[in-house]
Amino acid sequence: MPDLNQESWLRVKERLRAEVGDDVYSSWFARMELEAIEDGTVRLSVPTRFLKSWIQSHYAERVLACWQAESEKITRVELIVRSAVLRSAVANKPKELEPVIAGRFLSNNGNGRPFIAGDSTGHEALGGSPLDARLTFETFVVGRSNTLAQAAAKQVAAAKRSDPVMFNPLYIHAGVGLGKTHLLQAITWAGNAVGERKLLYLTAEKFMYGFVSALRTQTALAFKETLRGIGVLVIDDLQFLQGKSTQAEFCHTLNALIDAGRQVVIASDRPPSDLESLDDRVRSRLAGGLVVEMGPLGEELRFEILKARVMAARAHHPSFDVPLPVLGYIAKTITHNGRDLEGALNRLLAHNKLTGHAVTLEMAEREVRDLIRPQEPKRVKIEDIQRVVARQYNVSRSDLLSSRRTANVVRPRQVAMYLAKTLTLRSLPEIGRRFGGRDHTTVLHAVRKIEGLVGNDMALAEEIEILKRQLQE
Ligand code: ADP
Ligand code: MG
Repeated sequence: MPDLNQESWLRVKERLRAEVGDDVYSSWFARMELEAIEDGTVRLSVPTRFLKSWIQSHYAERVLACWQAESEKITRVELIVRSAVLRSAVANKPKELEPVIAGRFLSNNGNGRPFIAGDSTGHEALGGSPLDARLTFETFVVGRSNTLAQAAAKQVAAAKRSDPVMFNPLYIHAGVGLGKTHLLQAITWAGNAVGERKLLYLTAEKFMYGFVSALRTQTALAFKETLRGIGVLVIDDLQFLQGKSTQAEFCHTLNALIDAGRQVVIASDRPPSDLESLDDRVRSRLAGGLVVEMGPLGEELRFEILKARVMAARAHHPSFDVPLPVLGYIAKTITHNGRDLEGALNRLLAHNKLTGHAVTLEMAEREVRDLIRPQEPKRVKIEDIQRVVARQYNVSRSDLLSSRRTANVVRPRQVAMYLAKTLTLRSLPEIGRRFGGRDHTTVLHAVRKIEGLVGNDMALAEEIEILKRQLQE
């Protein structure tokens, strides 16, 4: 190929890099090569089918435009997958072409060549996060707050490959310690016990690590192949998924799996609409299946969980006996989450084992005192704020989101934005987005405005207090 073409290609690559940024460029284009230019068609190659389909669906026009800026004669860009022979030549690429992810150089195998691993590494990287043998459906206690989530989880675990997928993805959200991980691992245990489909449980961190390392070792294809073998992908703590390219990959994986009729199960500490860093398309895809919230554990449920835990503990410690009034006391006072309940019982068990003293109410009061925390404020959602404010001021929710600027809408809208800022952890840009795509400065203005008014306007201050109470009870 004439050197002229290679020079053009260098310029095109620089153009592309400038447009998409270093991070994206390194993730997707670093291993793209020019094969030929013929009759207005540029032929480029990439090492894997996966990269090809990704670039084709996301960047085809960009790449063409960059070529057209180089030469008007170019009318088409064709992407091909390099053959294995060509691929070994890629392994000898100079250092600067090694993938860089999130601005960080990834290691290589020491001799300046990117390390190319076989399939097994991909599998290892995706081998799933460890499962806790205690987190099964048998030990999961069902109560009012988790009935629907548990039923959906059981259904997913029991489904046969030939069954139509009922809800996809199944998205479970709840605060800390309310049983998300327990339920997700229960699905994985139960589904794998059926043995018909392979269920893979991954924390979001493991997913990131799996993908990043798959990129590093140039086994995006192996990664993809691995995913193909998965019947059900279970991802825990989705809120921790970070980094633009990881999220792009997550989106791609999600779409690929769902379109292929594979089940996806996700847990997160917030609803899809509140996953601020994900883009709208992913959010709506996530919301498109079944979204179930697990509420706080009620006292009755806490009591049942404790009872079940004591039973389980007695298998190993037959002399461990916790009188029912003690369980009642713990269930009543430790209101936060399953983790604190477990912690409380562990203290009683430790005390009982180490001192030989029987568990009594007095002892329990003493031992668990510091686990009793003041009531945590309820999670308030922006939708709830909009609903409650709209009702209070007798406007519609869509009025609040609209661009109307009449006084009867402007004030309630400002109040709602103010409440969103003070009662949730959402950022100003996020609040703006949720109020009909407004700018963050508009939100800031509203917050300042209301803050200024409540100092002088008793009636408004009281109105806001009432709204706050309604939202938090
Ligand atoms: P999350 O992942 O939502 O933060 P976990 O699933 O880790 O919460 O639960 C925290 C603890 O509470 C675990 O020990 C779990 O077994 C227990 N737990 C929570 N909900 C239940 C339940 N419904 N039945 C039995 N144990 C539960
Ligand atoms: Mg968890």
